[in-house]
Amino acid sequence: MTHICLGIISWLIVTSYETFSGNYIWQSLLCGLFAGLIDMDHFLMAKSFKFKDAINLSSRPPFHNTTLMLTFAGCLILVMHFKGSELMENLGWYILVAVTSHHLRDAQRHGLWIWPFTTKSINFINYLILSYLFPLAIGSLLKILNKNIFKTKFHDALLV
Ligand SMILES: [Zn+2]
Repeated sequence: MTHICLGIISWLIVTSYETFSGNYIWQSLLCGLFAGLIDMDHFLMAKSFKFKDAINLSSRPPFHNTTLMLTFAGCLILVMHFKGSELMENLGWYILVAVTSHHLRDAQRHGLWIWPFTTKSINFINYLILSYLFPLAIGSLLKILNKNIFKTKFHDALLV
């Protein structure tokens, strides 16, 4: 639940350059959903739906690999951009923001898993700064690139 809430807040930070629109509500919910879904890999790797099994893994599950997830989101954005599929490209931007929000929070305990390296755990102040600056940077990038993502309506996204 915490990851979902933080994903929602992160997307609201991305949109903070624009005047508020109702579209941002469902966009933020989508980003929050992706941020929450990342922890599903605990259950997949444990091959069990029991919470106890999911948190007692011997290694970190794949969706927590920052290199892998950022590469995936980056490729989705680039491939869909060149294919001209704006709505699929938008999913890549939501995933990118969701992944960083989730991984930064987990990094307070375990550090970032920037495969093949792992960083030290990050302290709370640095976590707050990074969690604010990253979505802010993405928001300005989307503005510089003149993306239509902020104008995407809910029924457009359903056509993906
Ligand atoms: Zn996690």
